[in-house]
Amino acid sequence: RAKSAGGHAVQFYEPEMQIAIDARVALESEIQLGLKHGEFELYYQPQIDIAGETVAAEALIRWRHPRRGLVSPIEFIPTAEDSGLIMPLGRFVLQAACEQLGAWAGDPELAQISIAVNISARQFHHPDFVDDVFRVLDSSAIDPSRLVLELTESVLLDSIDDAVGKMAMLKARGVRFSLDDFGTGYSSLYYLKLLPLDQLKIDQRFVGDLLTDANDAAIVCTIIALAQCLGLGVIAEGVECEQASDFLLAHQCHLQQGHLFSEALEREHFETFLQCRRADVCSRYNGQASDS
Ligand code: C2E
Ligand code: MG
Ligand code: MG
Ligand code: MG
Repeated sequence: RAKSAGGHAVQFYEPEMQIAIDARVALESEIQLGLKHGEFELYYQPQIDIAGETVAAEALIRWRHPRRGLVSPIEFIPTAEDSGLIMPLGRFVLQAACEQLGAWAGDPELAQISIAVNISARQFHHPDFVDDVFRVLDSSAIDPSRLVLELTESVLLDSIDDAVGKMAMLKARGVRFSLDDFGTGYSSLYYLKLLPLDQLKIDQRFVGDLLTDANDAAIVCTIIALAQCLGLGVIAEGVECEQASDFLLAHQCHLQQGHLFSEALEREHFETFLQCRRADVCSRYNGQASDS
């Protein structure tokens, strides 16, 4: 190849690799443009408590791409992480989530809702991360305990001391922490002892086959018990059917998230979901009360 190019160019890559690299570079500049043009937005997936009330939402980023339509984070978060674009993207997510909390704080129906934000390992370990979060909290003037940061176990791999230090600073401000995809990463129980966590989030890979796979059921029960013993909250993600939800409730997992309740929704749809559900829950409780 180098010869056919005239002997000057030295090409180390196979053509397919070059195509992949070109695609990545193109995606990087598209992400940058997308940020500039305001193409990213947050969707909200309800988190439901034992009374059937929506008490929180996980903020999940979507890219409203001018040509490709709604793009899933799976398609661009890895590239954003590799290229460092996760910093401006992550800042956008934090800013948008805190602005939303600020807007909801004025509405009695919505003021109790917390928002969980996903934080990438590279974003978390950046020297500016804590200052970035503080700046967003200052500018939005929200109650910091309404903000939950979801970290994955990969965050801990990089540097446990850095993680503990940063979490302590943020916790001192009132920010809460959840350990996402729990049980699928590399963390040891020793880390659980060191980290100032508030919640374990059971990964959907354990929840999906809960009813048919005895090992998954055992793992889920163990995580719930572990959380209880450590004084942590616990939430199951990927709850798709009534029976799985009932199993989780019977085993004292009082917070659940999944398609059984709702997929991630645009802000307006999330607010409508909440109103309808409130009305539904109220009528059911009132119905019970009038029966007895
Ligand atoms: P995650 O944090 O574990 O989010 C849960 C994913 O599972 C979401 O996919 C959600 O839509 C999906 N999900 C929820 N309930 C169910 C269910 O009942 N069944 C099934 N099959 N799936 C369900 P999504 O929105 O595509 O996000 C994928 C991942 O992208 C997230 O996994 C998270 O790691 C990452 N991500 C999303 N938003 C952000 C963000 O703002 N920042 C960063 N750094 N990562 C993000
Ligand atoms: Mg998450
Ligand atoms: Mg997860
Ligand atoms: Mg996941």
